[in-house]
Amino acid sequence: MSIEVNNLTHIYHRGTPLETVALRDISMEVPDGGWVSIVGHTGSGKSTLAQHLDALLLPDEGSVLVDGLSTDVKKDLRKIRRKVGLVFQYPEQQLFAETVREELSFGPKNWGEIDDIDRTLAEVMEQVGLDESYLERSPFKLSGGEKRRVAIASVLAVRPSYLVLDEPTAGLDASGRHRLVELLSRIHSDGTAVIMVTHDLEIALDLSDRIIALEKGTIACQGSPEEIVLSLESRPVSGLVLPDICKIWLGVKNRGMEIPFSCDPIYLA
Ligand code: ADP
Repeated sequence: MSIEVNNLTHIYHRGTPLETVALRDISMEVPDGGWVSIVGHTGSGKSTLAQHLDALLLPDEGSVLVDGLSTDVKKDLRKIRRKVGLVFQYPEQQLFAETVREELSFGPKNWGEIDDIDRTLAEVMEQVGLDESYLERSPFKLSGGEKRRVAIASVLAVRPSYLVLDEPTAGLDASGRHRLVELLSRIHSDGTAVIMVTHDLEIALDLSDRIIALEKGTIACQGSPEEIVLSLESRPVSGLVLPDICKIWLGVKNRGMEIPFSCDPIYLA
């Protein structure tokens, strides 16, 4: 079970003067239960790639397969969207209902999964760390961090196998980022695969099994955090600056000493 992207190309406004090749020949894989981060400069194609993973966008060339289902097959699109949940960059792009309860119930109702809906809501509220008093509140009157939790909960309410998050830490302060990272780690350890779009290389290095670095719509490098650090040291990618701790690690490694890789989570400070 996995998401497989093969030679994906995406072109906006094809055949017009506004034509933009946002992704060119991208191949990558997200294993079931894994944590993959997509990093890169603004405009490198991260959001476009994220939107392909749940078939919100469809390939101009190449293919996207989710647990063997192809986004090329019209009748499979619904099943793919059921398996992959996408959390948009800004909660305001996603939230629409008058109450949190209504917001969280929308997905299960849409998929016809209304048995025990109260229990599902209680479970996801607990998972995202909000008490049940929030259910009757307006999502629009919550703080930025709380809105983001509701947006994540509304996607989790249909129990996707893969959770795609577009810049989940954008706009959060250090403690908000820390709490969000804790939340995502918990969701991941509960068995959901996480695909995180981020410009925050430090968080990506610290949490991911695998990182894909995009540059102008192509893959500049991909691999484990260790491989990405080594690759970025020998070939920098625009917009990705290695954290100081990684440079220290490289210094130690270059002197022939092996230490287990861990990018010190400075954001916890
Ligand atoms: P990132 O998420 O890394 O900032 P995007 O995927 O948003 O990158 O954008 C990749 C490229 O595609 C950029 O050149 C951007 O201007 C262009 N692009 C993104 N969305 C659209 C769109 N809806 N219409 C036209 N061009 C777009």
